[in-house]
Amino acid sequence: MHQVKIKNSKQEFNVGKIVCLGRNYLDHIRELNNAVPDRAVIFCKPATSLLANGGVIEIPPYSNDCHHELELALLIGTTGKNIDKNTALSHLAGYGVALDLTLRDLQNELKNKGLPWEIAKGFDTSCPLSDFVPANDINDPNNINLQLLINGETRQQGNTNQMMRSVEEIIAEVSTFYTLEVGDIILTGTPAGVSKIVSGDKLEGTIEQVGSLQVSVA
Ligand code: MG
Repeated sequence: MHQVKIKNSKQEFNVGKIVCLGRNYLDHIRELNNAVPDRAVIFCKPATSLLANGGVIEIPPYSNDCHHELELALLIGTTGKNIDKNTALSHLAGYGVALDLTLRDLQNELKNKGLPWEIAKGFDTSCPLSDFVPANDINDPNNINLQLLINGETRQQGNTNQMMRSVEEIIAEVSTFYTLEVGDIILTGTPAGVSKIVSGDKLEGTIEQVGSLQVSVA
């Protein structure tokens, strides 16, 4: 069983599903030459993809192009289905810093064949994740800065106000497809600046008010 914690508390959650949004920042859609979706692009990562703060990323041998995607993570604290946008934030227990690591070469190969590309997103260690801060600590989750440094150099910089769907809209839309249960996690998409990581890289993701996540590549 994989667990996550709320900082400075004894609260622990058993992780259920990890639901991820793709193509939620326009500048990232453009850098990958993807189409702007009408419906949210949604996929899941298994709980076995989780990697704790300070951990080591293991890029699988079948890929030569692993990309970083820095994302705001949401932790569900109250179960719901068909959640109303106006009450969506009350379903959150906390916010965290996550990376949605992606084997871009494998993803493109599968995409071009019209096949599901979840194996490019769900490998072991593909979801580094920090501890969570209590949801009440964040005034406006739709206006916070994100930054990813690799070996001390800025690679991704953005603000959640650039998201095409707000945190409330994401929770509402995801919950029309899947019941959201206590311990489920949602990754909200990445801003522009994705690029390849290689052996020995040190990654530091920071999200304003939420905290930071430090991992390295084996
Ligand atoms: Mg992503």
